[in-house]
Amino acid sequence: MQDHRNSEQNCTPLPPYDIDDPILSLIGDTSMVKYPDELSGDLWVKLEKENPTGSMKDRIALGMILEMRASGELSDDDLVVEASSGNTAGGVALVANRLGLDNTITTPETTSGQKMGYVEAFGSELVTCPDVDSSEPGHYRSTAERIADERDGVFLNQYHNQLNPQVHEKWTGPELWNQTEDLTHVVCPMGTGGTLSGIGKYVKEQDDSVEIIGVDAERSNISTSFYDEEPVDYDTKIEGLGKGSETPTMWFDYIDCVVSVGDDTAISWTKKAARDQGLLIGPSAGAALSVAHSIAETDEDTTVVLIACDGGEQYFDLLTDS
Ligand code: PMP
Repeated sequence: MQDHRNSEQNCTPLPPYDIDDPILSLIGDTSMVKYPDELSGDLWVKLEKENPTGSMKDRIALGMILEMRASGELSDDDLVVEASSGNTAGGVALVANRLGLDNTITTPETTSGQKMGYVEAFGSELVTCPDVDSSEPGHYRSTAERIADERDGVFLNQYHNQLNPQVHEKWTGPELWNQTEDLTHVVCPMGTGGTLSGIGKYVKEQDDSVEIIGVDAERSNISTSFYDEEPVDYDTKIEGLGKGSETPTMWFDYIDCVVSVGDDTAISWTKKAARDQGLLIGPSAGAALSVAHSIAETDEDTTVVLIACDGGEQYFDLLTDS
């Protein structure tokens, strides 16, 4: 691990955006902590919960909005609309609030109140939609599209917007690379796939031998798409993990393999990290930990980085039940 704060040579790269705001400047430059368990190899956990709304989605909220403003796709008078069943909602609400942009978030009624608390706390409009199939008009993504049409707004659309992975390629990838020596594996949960795809592209361009490993839910179609298998009905309790179908934000060319993890395994590893190691990570990171841990446990020549997309603070109910 390099001490990036004391060495000019190894300093963490600046965010790729000129951020003239004290709150938004808190986004990025997240810590890496060594997983305390005795393992043959090294396992580092990148703590994206250090971002102001508690997840890596603050990075894409900021990056997508700034880039779309710079390209003229979004003007200061436009309503920003985003569809999110979780962490992106808080990120967009915060960034729009600081930049003085009106914004509306659509979400399915099943989303946890904890995450939507950010939206309301920052004064954004929250539209709760029925939990219906994505082909139906009332679905939260179709609703976001309709609101953007009707109110002359701009739908950020993290599921299709190439800026989602591109922000991680420009920002999270270089940041992680500069924090790590002799990196051999990156393990990251996938939803839109933006985080892993962007990091994967940057890291592969530095060293093609680093293995880029995606983690999917067991009943989900990221891995079935990746391996050209029959699709399954998407169903998981793990927030943020998996997708019903492949989206354009999944850059499979930079991903070596996708591992499916069941809900029970994800939850038991999330609890294990908290109880045995004092590390509060979210359950999608728990799923990824089950994979990262087995790599670092079996091979002493490994330096594995696990992206913990959010923290356990948002899921105490899940961590404290028996
Ligand atoms: N974990 C959590 C907790 C998330 O909110 C998300 C976002 N859906 C992911 C993992 C997956 O990140 P991405 O969408 O960048 O693949």
